[in-house]
Amino acid sequence: MKQYQQTYRKNFALVIIFLILITAALGGALYTAYNFTAKYVENEFASQKIEVLEETIKPYNDFFQNKIPEISFYQGYLDSTQAAKYIDTIFRKFNFVDRVVFYDATISNRTFSEGIRVNNFSLGPKAIYQFSRNIPPDSILLFKENESSKPFSLKSGDEFNKMALKFSGFIELADTSRVLNDSDRFNVFYSVISKRISYMNIPRREEIKIYKDLMVSNLTLSPIYELDMFSFYLDPLKLTIKNTKPELYESINIKPLVYESLENTSEIISNDLPLSGPFSDYKLYFSSSRTFLRKEINARFLPIAGGLIISYFIVVLIAYLIFRNLNINSKLFKLQYDFINNLTHEFKTPVSVIKIAGNNIRSATQLSDRERNHYGKILDEEADKLNDLMNKLLSFTQIENKAIQIKPESINLEVFCQNLIDSYQVKYPNFDISYIIKGVEYFRSDPVLLGSIFQNLIDNAYKYSRPDNKVLKIKITKIKKQLFIKFSDRGIGIPTKDLNNIFEKFFRVQNEYNQQGSVGLGLAFCKELVKFMHGNISVKSVVGEGSEFTIELPYEL
Ligand code: ADP
Repeated sequence: MKQYQQTYRKNFALVIIFLILITAALGGALYTAYNFTAKYVENEFASQKIEVLEETIKPYNDFFQNKIPEISFYQGYLDSTQAAKYIDTIFRKFNFVDRVVFYDATISNRTFSEGIRVNNFSLGPKAIYQFSRNIPPDSILLFKENESSKPFSLKSGDEFNKMALKFSGFIELADTSRVLNDSDRFNVFYSVISKRISYMNIPRREEIKIYKDLMVSNLTLSPIYELDMFSFYLDPLKLTIKNTKPELYESINIKPLVYESLENTSEIISNDLPLSGPFSDYKLYFSSSRTFLRKEINARFLPIAGGLIISYFIVVLIAYLIFRNLNINSKLFKLQYDFINNLTHEFKTPVSVIKIAGNNIRSATQLSDRERNHYGKILDEEADKLNDLMNKLLSFTQIENKAIQIKPESINLEVFCQNLIDSYQVKYPNFDISYIIKGVEYFRSDPVLLGSIFQNLIDNAYKYSRPDNKVLKIKITKIKKQLFIKFSDRGIGIPTKDLNNIFEKFFRVQNEYNQQGSVGLGLAFCKELVKFMHGNISVKSVVGEGSEFTIELPYEL
C-alpha cells in the first residue's frame, strides 16, 4: 500500500514536471514565434516598397515607352488639330501630365527667323502651341512664324533650341549606313529633366541622309521638311499611388527628396524610395504607426499561435493517453497480482483447516461423538468452501465464454426468497434479512442463475456490514414489463469514485472487510449473468449508510 502510494506520488510529480516543461516550451515557442513574426513584418515593411513603386510608376513607363513614341508614326506631319487629339488621349489616360507644348517645326537650308542654324541646316519652329486641361482656347497658340502678335519667347524656345542643337549635332556626325540604336534614340530624341520630358519625332534613314547633305553641301533652296517636337510637363504629385500592401503601409505619399518627417519616430515607422527620371527630385514616403503594424503582426501571428496551441494540446492528449494506458496496465497488473494472492489464500485456508482436522483425527486414539461431529462439520464446511470457490471460477469462465445455457422455469418468487433466507439464517444467525414482493407472483427464469445473483448480493451485504448492523431488505416489484429486484443494506457503503469500478473483474475496494475471502469476482459475475439474461444492474451507495443494488430484468411469465 505504502509502495503504491509512493509510485502514485512519483507519477503525479512526473506529470506535473511534464506539464510545466511542455507549458514552458509552449510559452517559449509563442514568444519566439511572436518576435519572429514582428521581425518578418518589419523586414517586409522595408522590402515591399519596391513593389509599390513598380505599380505606381507603371502608367508612367507605359507613357514613356509606348505613348510618346507614337509621335514618330506621323513623321513630323502633325498639325495643331491632330496634336490636340493626340494630347487629349494623353490627358485622359495619364493624369500626371499637366501641360504639353507642341512645336510644329520645319527643316530647310533657308534661314528662319527663329530656331538654330548649323552650316546650311536650319531648324526652326513654325508655330508653338500649348495644351493643358484648363487653358482657354485663345491662349493655345504661343508663337506663329510671321505673326508679330505672337513673338517667339525664350521661355518656350529654350527646350526647343536645346533639342534642335542636339539634333543638328547628331545629323552632322550621323552614320547613315547603319540603323539607329536605342542609345541614339534616347540621347538625341528624348530629353528628360526634372518634371519635364521632351521628344522629337525620329526621322527615317533617308531623311537623315537628306538633312546631312543639306548641312554640308551648298545647294540651291531646298524643300521644307516637317518635324514635330513635344514637351510634356509632368506633376509627380499627381501620380496615382498604388498601395499594393495596405496591410503594411498605413500611408504612402510623394514627397520632395529632402523631406524629413517631424513625427515621433518611436511611434511611427517610416521608409522611403526615390523616384526616377523626370520625378527624380521626389520620393515615395511610406509610414505606418506601430499600432497599425501590430495589427498585421497579430493577424500573422494568430494562425501560428493557433497551430502551436493545437500541437500543445495534441502532445498533452497523447501524454495523457499514454499515462492512462500505463495506469490501466499497472492497475490490471495489480489486480491480477491481488487475485492470485487472494485465490491462493482462499484455497490455502480451507486446505490447512482440512489438514489440521485430518491430523487431529489420525493422531487421536479415540474420538468422542462430540469430537467426531465437530471434525465432520469442519471438514464438510471447508470442503463446501473449496467447492464454492471452484464453482465460482468455473461459472465465471463459462459465462465469459457464453458457454452457459439458460434453463428457464416458472419460479414462485415467494418460495424462492423464503428458501434462500432460511438457508442464510442457518448460516448467519445474526443476519436480519427480509423481503417484500409487490404485484408479482411468478417469474420465468433460470433458478440457478437467479440464485447465483441473489447469493452474491446477499453475501456482499453480509460481508460489507458491521457485525452489529447486518441488515438486508430485498424488494421485488413489477413495473410494466420489467421486474425490479432491490437489495438494500445498511453496510459500510462504497466511495463514489469506486462505484464505476466495482463491476470490473478482480476489482476490490480496499477495506478491512475484504482482506480475506474476496477475489473481486462476485459483482463482475453478477453483471455478466444479468447481461446474459438481457437485464441491467446498477448501484447507489452512501459511505457509512449503506448500499442499494438494483437488478432490472425483462419480465416473463
Ligand atoms: P469481493 O469478492 O471483493 O466481494 P465483489 O465483486 O463482490 O468482490 O465486490 C467488489 C467490491 O465492491 C468489494 O471489494 C467491496 O469493497 C465492494 N462491495 C460490494 N458489495 C458491497 C456492499 N453491499 N457494500 C459495500 N461494499 C460492497
